[in-house]
Amino acid sequence: MHIDILTLFPNMFESPFGDSIIKRAIEKKAVAIDLHNIRDYTLSKQKSVDEYAFGGGAGMVMQIEPIDLCMEKLKAEKDYDEIIYLSPDGELFDQKMANMLSTKKNLMFLCGHYKGVDERVREHLITKEISIGDYVLTGGELATAVVVDAIVRLIPGVLSDETSALSDSFQDDLISPPVYTRPSEYKGWKVPEILLSGHQAKIEEWRHEQSIERTKKRRPDLLK
Ligand code: SAM
Repeated sequence: MHIDILTLFPNMFESPFGDSIIKRAIEKKAVAIDLHNIRDYTLSKQKSVDEYAFGGGAGMVMQIEPIDLCMEKLKAEKDYDEIIYLSPDGELFDQKMANMLSTKKNLMFLCGHYKGVDERVREHLITKEISIGDYVLTGGELATAVVVDAIVRLIPGVLSDETSALSDSFQDDLISPPVYTRPSEYKGWKVPEILLSGHQAKIEEWRHEQSIERTKKRRPDLLK
């Protein structure tokens, strides 16, 4: 998979992409991630990329030209499965969307800032809009990092045990069962006996029951 990210703040990705699973995925060449600074594409002498909104009002708006010029360059090099704008009013991101996007070859992400992007970017240049929740972030960088993390860990070969992602919460619309590790007893708090029994079939049955019970209690909406 190849991911291109258009942003005004490329440094914000250093840490989320420089450690753990994403770092390893890049090293294994399961994914390539390129960051593009939108400011490099402005034709303005002052290097500005935002302007006051027509009609007035607080906050600056990201201009269409540098975004379009950057996208034009990238689109001349490859075909994109989706060109995604992160936006609080986009489609709510969930595991099903992560599964779907993880099967794609080329994805482009546009991170908004300030009051967002000129609406014509959304009307003419974007194929999909994603929100990571009903709250407003300062910019699309953290939202993009969240979405990219959720997608990349699903690419075959990225997790050392691929079945691990399949047993995570929200796959099959169920919450993950509880997990325990050594010691089997701590301050008198014990691990459920069944997990120490060695009966794998019974353990799987117990985990499934726990998943259903947890989902009923914590996220009954998923059982519908
Ligand atoms: N004026 C916009 C509104 O009220 O919908 C909010 C703009 S926000 C301050 C700046 C940028 O952060 C947005 O353009 C978007 O790219 C990103 N952003 C903010 N909240 C987000 C969310 N919940 N999900 C995805 N992206 C978000």
